[in-house]
Amino acid sequence: MSLNAESTAFRSALEVIRAVEPRVADAIGAELADQRESLKLIASENYASPATLLAMGNWFSDKYAEGTVGRRFYAGCQNVDTVEALAAEHARELFGAAHAYVQPHSGIDANLVAFWAVLADRVESPALKKAQVRQVNELTEADWFALRRELGNQRMLGMSLDAGGHLTHGFRPNISGKMFDQRSYGTDPATGLIDYDKVAEAAREFKPLILVAGYSAYPRKVNFRIMREIADEVGATFMVDMAHFAGLVAGKVFTGDFDPVPHAHIVTTTTHKSLRGPRGGMVLCGPELADQVDRGCPMVLGGPLPHVMAAKAVALAEARRPEFADYAQRIVANAQALAEGLLRRGAKLVTGGTDNHLVLIDVSGYGLTGRQAEQALLDSGIVTNRNAVPQDPNGAWYTSGIRIGTPALTTRGLGTAEMDATAELIHAVLTQTTAGANADGTPSKAKYVLDAALADKVSKQASELLATFPLYPAVNLA
Ligand code: PLP
Repeated sequence: MSLNAESTAFRSALEVIRAVEPRVADAIGAELADQRESLKLIASENYASPATLLAMGNWFSDKYAEGTVGRRFYAGCQNVDTVEALAAEHARELFGAAHAYVQPHSGIDANLVAFWAVLADRVESPALKKAQVRQVNELTEADWFALRRELGNQRMLGMSLDAGGHLTHGFRPNISGKMFDQRSYGTDPATGLIDYDKVAEAAREFKPLILVAGYSAYPRKVNFRIMREIADEVGATFMVDMAHFAGLVAGKVFTGDFDPVPHAHIVTTTTHKSLRGPRGGMVLCGPELADQVDRGCPMVLGGPLPHVMAAKAVALAEARRPEFADYAQRIVANAQALAEGLLRRGAKLVTGGTDNHLVLIDVSGYGLTGRQAEQALLDSGIVTNRNAVPQDPNGAWYTSGIRIGTPALTTRGLGTAEMDATAELIHAVLTQTTAGANADGTPSKAKYVLDAALADKVSKQASELLATFPLYPAVNLA
């Protein structure tokens, strides 16, 4: 593709938008400029390809398409059928799954679809079965009452939040914590690793309907074969939320025991993190759960987003190319180089390193909270996010950790040498930031002191590091 095609496409789009609301066109342009300038280490973000981005900006957005391919509640869905079927086919081929449902709008939505599918499949309520076969009107008030009690009394066992689990794995601020009676498994305090014997113990005692694996902030591989054995022993459905590491599964970095697809009954994911697609979600499963999963819309999802499904088809086609496997390998090599660079400079890392795309720095050794460290790094042109560490004394708001990840910088082309340089910049900021005090002299968990000249110097160094690796090099808006 020539440089001209991409630049022309985005320039023309902005011109058309500018004619209606110039401030939106300006904001879109400014967002590209900001993204180009920042050293993005947010583990859950990436840069989708121009083809993926362009596939979203079109008239597919106008179409209602409730239902599934070939079985729609609206007429005229033949073209939506084409892109949804393509996205599903690419997903099945890429991950070796029997069934793929590509309608979820996000990772949280994909999890809701999966929870509902498992409940509908596993809860042996005659009222529920009637509700499933659309005999809803035959249900009495007593039926409904019994059904809701039964649905509301199911159990979920997932990874605890401070060990790296996600809110949707049964925690109270999310609907999953209100739908399910939840218990969580943590990590070994000495090693920071999942202790599978402890997971098995908790599962035997709690007997969950759903055992969930998957994480937002655990820097290691998970052995899904062992987790499945635990689920089987207690009769649980084994669900894996691979939102963060789907790109590593797609790129065959995680294989065998570490590939969730052959081991889990149901797998959910986002499409926009390490998988580098459009903002969205997806569910993979075997034939047993496929019918229930396909009821996602309208059961828990709003109408499908055909323009995003088109973009999913494009991104998944990209992920099936050999270059993507190389990209996935480089994500991990970069994360390991970053971890080694930080360790060499004295940082304390949760689990002592990484074997995936993310690194969790325990910043308490610098006398900082995660919030202070996050802001000081941001002042210095380094975008990260604060994150709880296991048994975090500062809770989920201030935290004691900084989570960093390499999918985005790897997309830009940065390699292991630049990761070492990045470690040096992070080290410089964290060692020279001190905790601030409140007006009354008490220690603050939010305020910090960082020399502006140092922040400025590091920002410039970060820009220099990025200058060799332009973002969207073929897109010229000027
Ligand atoms: N599941 C996991 C493990 C995640 O880390 C996240 C997002 O951070 C989600 C689900 C939710 O994804 P989304 O923001 O697309 O709803």
